[in-house]
Amino acid sequence: MEKQRRQFLTQLSSQLVGLGSLAAAPILSRAATSTADGHTKVENIRISREPNKTRLVFDLSGTVKHSLFALHSPERLVIDLKKTGLMNAGVLEELHSDQLKGIRTGVRNTHDLRIVLDLKSRVNPSSFLLEPKGANGYRLVIDVTEQSGKPRKPVAKKKNLRDVIVAIDAGHGGNDPGATGRLGTHEKNITLQIARRLKKIVDGTRGMKAELIRSSDRFMRLRERIKRAHELDADLMISIHADSFPDKRARGASVYALSVSGATSESARLLAEKENRVDMLFGDVDLNHPDQMVRQVLLDLSLTGTIESSLDIGDEVLKELGRVGRVHKKKVQQAGFAVLKAPNIPAILLETAFISNPKEERKLRSSAHQNKLAKAILRGANDYFARKAPPGTWLSESQAHYVVKKGDTLAAIGDHYRLPVSHIRTRNSLRTDQLRVGSKLYIPMS
Ligand SMILES: [Zn+2]
Repeated sequence: MEKQRRQFLTQLSSQLVGLGSLAAAPILSRAATSTADGHTKVENIRISREPNKTRLVFDLSGTVKHSLFALHSPERLVIDLKKTGLMNAGVLEELHSDQLKGIRTGVRNTHDLRIVLDLKSRVNPSSFLLEPKGANGYRLVIDVTEQSGKPRKPVAKKKNLRDVIVAIDAGHGGNDPGATGRLGTHEKNITLQIARRLKKIVDGTRGMKAELIRSSDRFMRLRERIKRAHELDADLMISIHADSFPDKRARGASVYALSVSGATSESARLLAEKENRVDMLFGDVDLNHPDQMVRQVLLDLSLTGTIESSLDIGDEVLKELGRVGRVHKKKVQQAGFAVLKAPNIPAILLETAFISNPKEERKLRSSAHQNKLAKAILRGANDYFARKAPPGTWLSESQAHYVVKKGDTLAAIGDHYRLPVSHIRTRNSLRTDQLRVGSKLYIPMS
């Protein structure tokens, strides 16, 4: 169901993007008119090509303030020039290279020029401004260098199946200590310790890779955390916290997913941010479509689907947390936490225990309990991905299903598939080697 919906979304958004670029065509000619009001003009654009690098030189009538940033899937480089116009859009047609598919321009904020380079692959961009020299005036130089190494996106070939990426977000940090327990324990330290332990065991699990959103004691804004998860192409974001309540008897773990109202207000907010609209790309949903209604529908669909997945993962993790400690609420809670608002990335927030409860505070400080928590979280994630690994991942492709028959032992099944028992155990989050007849095992194949 989820997969179909995502495919539908992908198709829909790619159709819409197609329409979007057609609709954007008239903007080009508007940008092409030169500015007669003393603003800087781009007089010419020159290109030079090397095997792994393309250099664009913008000849300018004066100095310019510029900024650039990259967007992914599809790969683009966006260059913004303050108070600048383009003299002659004709030059754009010539600008192709091994790295450069094409170049588009548009007007921003009435008098700024936005240049979008459509790229063939991920690049390392750099830019610098040259002062006038000899016959040359001001020049802005943009270099795009091909990134070596393999692409991180899914690859169809069996050999290149990617890992499921888990972004681990240690709550708080730096000058934001989070809650502080009666023994003086800061939430920010506990969350980072658990995050590190979790990363270690996720990285030790075949087909999975963990990345820490915050790896040191530093302050990070919530939106920055979401942005990081996007940059990582995360398949799941887990935000780790510890709860606090005035009554020190409050206890147990809770799991949160984003609420629909939180998602709806977030999509409204994003769409209201006209300024950044063109820059917004959330996974397979491209929000460049000129029709506000269509954008809203795309974003809502995406957010609702993401919430479904988040609740599903949250259920699995809560189940596992219940095995290693108390649970505060028996169901996954929903709230409008900002850190959960990453469209297209299922996300859960874990309140691992009450740091305001001295008993639980002591537990949270113990490395043994931290390890138990980390293992429980991994088992929960594992149980989810065993059913719903994203297409193109090793987990989704490289496994067989085996239904346990009477008399089976884990050792015998391992022998049969020529696999270490430990691989089967990890893959199926098995705590003991006891098997239940009729249950399904995932068999990892390489
Ligand atoms: Zn917190």
